[in-house]
Amino acid sequence: MTHYTSPLAEALAPGLLKRFVRYARIDTQSSRDSTARPSTPGQLDLVRLLAEELRALGLEVRIAETGFVYGTLPATVAGADVVGLSAHVDVSPDAPGAGVEPIVHPDYDGGVIALPHGGTTLDPERMPALLACVGHDLVTSSGDTLLGADDKAGVAEIVTALAHLAAHPELPRPELRVAFGPDEEIGDGATRFGIEGFGARCAYTLDGSTIGELQDETFSAVAVTLTITGVDVHPGTAHGILVNAAKLAGRVLAALPADRLSPETTTGREGFLHPTEVRATATRAVVQLIARDFDDARLDEHVALVRRLAEEVVATEPRARLEVEVREQYRNMRAHLDAVPEVTEAAAEAIRREGIVPVRTQIRGGTDGSILSARGLPTPNLFTGGHEYHSVREWGSLQEMAAAAAVIVHLAGVWAEGFEAERP
Ligand SMILES: [Zn+2]
Repeated sequence: MTHYTSPLAEALAPGLLKRFVRYARIDTQSSRDSTARPSTPGQLDLVRLLAEELRALGLEVRIAETGFVYGTLPATVAGADVVGLSAHVDVSPDAPGAGVEPIVHPDYDGGVIALPHGGTTLDPERMPALLACVGHDLVTSSGDTLLGADDKAGVAEIVTALAHLAAHPELPRPELRVAFGPDEEIGDGATRFGIEGFGARCAYTLDGSTIGELQDETFSAVAVTLTITGVDVHPGTAHGILVNAAKLAGRVLAALPADRLSPETTTGREGFLHPTEVRATATRAVVQLIARDFDDARLDEHVALVRRLAEEVVATEPRARLEVEVREQYRNMRAHLDAVPEVTEAAAEAIRREGIVPVRTQIRGGTDGSILSARGLPTPNLFTGGHEYHSVREWGSLQEMAAAAAVIVHLAGVWAEGFEAERP
């Protein structure tokens, strides 16, 4: 048993693995501390390599000043809508990203995998997704870095599907546009995506995880900053004068609900309030929080709650001041995608053609598609076969990755046929 979902997936796997390993070795970690864009130069190394590879496949290719590489594969049928494919070249800053050395573990036996460095183990007891991949060829890092399947699995799957389509002009396909961009992990990818020049009717990000996943819903997200100003004097002569901003901030944090509305106490469709950073002195305290929900009205309630709690605490000390700043991050893409059901349905059909049952899930987070959909390019998200993102335990299944590449090939066919959604 090879555990591939189809002969097509099996045929795509060797080229896919070679590409993935080549891309994974390039250090493309983005940085939140950098003001440059792209935030790190290594991302451009991969962008330039991808430009070369896409050109060699016969695509028309352009690298934009934003660090995005765009490519066009011409249609083989007339009259079909232009369809976009996208993935991000950067990897998360949350774990080491330099010196990635991918290791292939053929025919996984379902046991614990001990990686050579960092004492890292992949244990199916704590990572049950592994058990769905017994018999698969798994790819991991060497244990002390990320693997970078997020999102180089997506990049490699798109390039592999394009290579297959370019080599098979007899397969019906619409004009395909591809975009690979930097800095998604620091929240600055989709804002710099050149939608206007892209010219696609819709696009698909390959930035999901488990096989079959098709995601058309994300959190709506805002960031809240509470700034508390106290009154600071020398503590030796502070009697009756000092107002400690740090203590007030502590009381605000303590007032937040502990048993609900937190990432650690919610799942599924529940949202949360989450303090991410506190910087405090006696004079001034700045509390950063994020608020998340799938429902915009409930998101507003979460923001109103933290505002009320902060106001109540600070109001106990009339000489203290409070400022509340609410910054929009991204919105649930569901409303935009519901308006064009054929876009998500085409992906579901492509997944079914690979013999997989589509699994509609919501993302407890955002994707490039959240912002792209709001900007007018409807963009659901597809699985990549990568798992345990943003950690040294990150792994991928070659069989699942190959299935994703095959789904892209089918997706081209679906759009070339002018597939119409079954409307309710
Ligand atoms: Zn990603």
